[in-house]
Amino acid sequence: MSRRAGSSSNFQPGATEMWRASVLSIFPDMFPGPLGMSLAGKALASGAWSLDVADIRGFATDKHRTVDDTPAGGGPGMVMKPDVLGRAIDSIAVDARPRLLMSPRGAPLTQAGVESLAGGAGVVLVCGRFEGVDERVIAARGLEEVSIGDYVLSGGEIAAMALIDACVRLLPGVMGAAASGNEESFADGLLEYPHYTRPQLWEGRAIPDMLTSGDHGKIAAWRRAEAERLTSERRPDLWTAFLRRFRSGSRTG
Ligand code: SAH
Repeated sequence: MSRRAGSSSNFQPGATEMWRASVLSIFPDMFPGPLGMSLAGKALASGAWSLDVADIRGFATDKHRTVDDTPAGGGPGMVMKPDVLGRAIDSIAVDARPRLLMSPRGAPLTQAGVESLAGGAGVVLVCGRFEGVDERVIAARGLEEVSIGDYVLSGGEIAAMALIDACVRLLPGVMGAAASGNEESFADGLLEYPHYTRPQLWEGRAIPDMLTSGDHGKIAAWRRAEAERLTSERRPDLWTAFLRRFRSGSRTG
């Protein structure tokens, strides 16, 4: 059954079907894990998105249910077998969803990438284990490799959860106004400004006067300046890209 999620006013064209995540893993019991709690969990329970997890081991044919073998050419570790993984992938009907392989070699996941995935029909995610997967299955099944950062996890499951979580919070109706604002980190290429809440004075540290001034124009200007300061200090890569966009934007009008 497919259900519409959220209110119809939030709908974008093509987003009328439930957003679906299909995961392939040798540890299906890890799911939904954290995705079954809090925002993502409530959205899952309410039908804003769906999750199905296939056990790759179920597609092995020997009595030991073998999913890996030694690397051709030698070396340490094991490699996921293309025949077993290929059958597991083929158990998921081909549809409009991208088929992604979680991989430290992949294209780095960005907020723009998350927004694009969240705006589509969903994702099919393959979780690697061991040294990774046989290269032929990546080519034969057209898997796009996606990385969640320049470090190595022991398996793709946590990476898949990170990707799903980032997408689900953007689905219509899941977070309401909070996620739809343009003020979050990365939304306009800047990190987010600092947040404060009561008490006004904590351990001798006060909330900046500006934020309690009630002057919304000045507050917005202060937040923008802080976002720019933090981005230039912490992320020269983002800052350079921001300045480039800003300058080309003002040149072209
Ligand atoms: N030998 C590989 C690492 C394998 S880690 C290499 O050096 O590139 C085992 C699995 O964990 C991978 O197949 C992948 O599915 C997952 N994984 C590890 N780090 C990841 C990352 N940064 N992003 C996404 N998936 C990752």
